[in-house]
Amino acid sequence: MLMVGETIRIALLRFEWEKAMAATDKFLRLDRLRALVNGFGALLDQKPIEERILAEGSLLLADLVRHDDWLPPAFAAPNVDRYQQYLLHCDSRARFSVVSFVWAPGQATPIHDHTVWGLIGILRGSEIAQSYIRPNGLPIVNAPPCRLSEGDVDALSPALGDIHKVSNALPDQPSISIHVYGADIGAVHRSVFTTDGAVKPFISGYANEALPNIWGNDC
Ligand code: FE
Repeated sequence: MLMVGETIRIALLRFEWEKAMAATDKFLRLDRLRALVNGFGALLDQKPIEERILAEGSLLLADLVRHDDWLPPAFAAPNVDRYQQYLLHCDSRARFSVVSFVWAPGQATPIHDHTVWGLIGILRGSEIAQSYIRPNGLPIVNAPPCRLSEGDVDALSPALGDIHKVSNALPDQPSISIHVYGADIGAVHRSVFTTDGAVKPFISGYANEALPNIWGNDC
């Protein structure tokens, strides 16, 4: 059982931590995320072909991940049990969604698909992406693993190939990537593929229940 003094000390530490987090949030450049959201909205308003979405969207995402001064700590928190997918924004018509993907050291996805276009930008740390094809139902690698580092942007889509496995490349610290998908990705019916040929349906959902407020920031 904790002594009274220890309980008060922990409460004070928590108070100081919450105060520090609030102060941190106050100075975050959430306008950068807002610019990405507005940019994708304007791009998709033009009903472009996928090739143009990926080309111009990559530039928008590169603009965002070249800065690391905007992601609130709540959406950058690793979880020792599994990698986290935090929803940062979903378009009102679900034309696109933006998520932060947070990896603790040693964490990796299973082999999985997306069924929609996606862009991946590395904000912090580094990831290794291994792409696969399934010519006869079994997943086989079709290219060397690709290491993505801070500022890099990668694209995927069913037309280009959208089956991969991703892992944190860093053994001793978290990595964070920002993804933009052509749907409300947390609600999309997708599949995990095992090396024995099994196909397991999944819907990812999101790790968070509240979104960052990107609209009230005067920056
Ligand atoms: Fe993926």
